[in-house]
Amino acid sequence: MSKKAIIIGAGIGGLTTALRLLKNEYEVVIYEKNKKIGGRVNILETKNFNFDLSASILMMPDSYKEVFSYIGKNYTDYLEFIEIDPTYKLFSGDTTIDFNNKFSSLTKTLEKISKEDSLGYFKFLSDVYEKYLIANKYFLQKSQDDITDFFNFTTLIKALEVNTLSTSYDFISKYVKDERLRQFLAFQSMYVGISPYNGPNIYTLIPVVSQLYGLWHLKGGMYSFINALSKLIYELGGNIITEVPVEEILFLNDKAIGVKSSRGIENADIIICNADFPYSMKNLIKNEYYKDDYTDKKLAKMKYSCSTFIIYLGLKKSYPQLAVHNIYLGENFKEGIESPFKGVIPKNPTLYIYCPSRIDRSMVKNNGDCINVMVRVPNLFFKEIVWDKNTINTLMNDIFKELKTIKGLDDIEENIVYKNYLTPLDMESTFNAYGGTAFGLSTTLTQTNYFRPKFKSNKANNLFFVGSSLHPGPGISLVLNSSKIVTEEILNTM
Ligand SMILES: Cc1cc2nc3c(=O)[nH]c(=O)nc-3n(C[C@H](O)[C@H](O)[C@H](O)COP(=O)(O)OP(=O)(O)OC[C@H]3O[C@@H](n4cnc5c(N)ncnc54)[C@H](O)[C@@H]3O)c2cc1C
Repeated sequence: MSKKAIIIGAGIGGLTTALRLLKNEYEVVIYEKNKKIGGRVNILETKNFNFDLSASILMMPDSYKEVFSYIGKNYTDYLEFIEIDPTYKLFSGDTTIDFNNKFSSLTKTLEKISKEDSLGYFKFLSDVYEKYLIANKYFLQKSQDDITDFFNFTTLIKALEVNTLSTSYDFISKYVKDERLRQFLAFQSMYVGISPYNGPNIYTLIPVVSQLYGLWHLKGGMYSFINALSKLIYELGGNIITEVPVEEILFLNDKAIGVKSSRGIENADIIICNADFPYSMKNLIKNEYYKDDYTDKKLAKMKYSCSTFIIYLGLKKSYPQLAVHNIYLGENFKEGIESPFKGVIPKNPTLYIYCPSRIDRSMVKNNGDCINVMVRVPNLFFKEIVWDKNTINTLMNDIFKELKTIKGLDDIEENIVYKNYLTPLDMESTFNAYGGTAFGLSTTLTQTNYFRPKFKSNKANNLFFVGSSLHPGPGISLVLNSSKIVTEEILNTM
């Protein structure tokens, strides 16, 4: 008889672990609190516009494709990947810089800044690429649960080679002098919700991987991936129960025996929890013994990533001056970047602007564009910020003030036919994201690798965790790794 797995949460981690287990002949039931699956990879559907709700940057497409090959399917039957060029457009004051993925164009662009910066940029790419190859082989694809996984001679030597101790900004500054280039590269560590002026420099991998492996768009938006995963889960015989939040994980004699919800109690041989790890420890595990180290006191001491405020704009006019991915550098960049970590909403925010309709007209039904404008903001642990109408209106106005300084976008407000927004409160209430963070537990040095929560509970050996707050960290491709590692652990131990 096949073993039964219950998965709590239909985020990327839950859905892809489900597929892997179905392939290994497990019976799989997923409980999802929301009507729409996908977790933080979600969609906002309106009459004329489809918006990717949050995640928009698709790096490392091979990690997406790997899920299909694992279960013996051809990804091209489900998804269409479109390569993006330029990967980014950078707006700074009066200047615009296109970062093409073709090196001959990129070299010309960089040389226009200066030959020294061009050389520095390529040296930066090369050095960080070397770090990436090491990190990928020794850390990102492997479990770090056991003390010997990290504290062994080879891994420690490799950790020293990767040397992440200086901050991203300081590290980048050794290679390039142009402040716009520095800020462009540094800003990307905000994708995992940590400051480039504070966190380890390992997140310089993000701009390097984007430049070397390219950025991609899925036809129809990120949610096409979720639709494909859902279709495959049903094809392989899995079951997804939506709009039923799990209320409690039940235990008996050092085993997780099932889950409690409005449907009653359902038992299983193994439980995999994809709901945000700190939220789950606080709310789904009621018995202190099974929380193990993660008591409320410990959770309160842990470090959390920042949150995000997003404006969704459906426009009746098209703005060809925008690429798919755009970064607008706000005045007082450093102050703005650090403010979410100090409990302050940035006044002259640096913006990430996403315009998928530039290359994918299936996202809009008119001749205009759909754009998301994102700003990093403090998470809900900063209690002094009240996300009321006043805060939201002030922030919206500040964002529009900046947006309209981009050449050609001065009339953007007049061309809005749909407007919506998402705050940290939505992140918390919709996805049970602990503290309304965008990226879960912060990836500080003391919360990475062996020091990150473990995939397998110490107290119940059939309870597993998967997702952003686990190793190797946030971002779709890393969560896909997390699902791969947890499945291996399940297959090895159960
Ligand atoms: C604003 C924003 C922008 C981002 N941009 C990018 C990007 O451009 N590129 C990228 O690669 N990554 C990006 N990310 C990160 C990426 O989206 C996440 O790391 C990833 O989607 C997290 O997946 P997950 O499986 O860990 O969990 P989640 O997506 O958090 O899924 C957990 C699921 O569990 C459900 N759940 C919670 N509690 C319960 C319960 N009690 N019972 C049942 N179900 C429950 C939730 O509803 C949710 O569906 C972004 C994230 C945010 C928030």
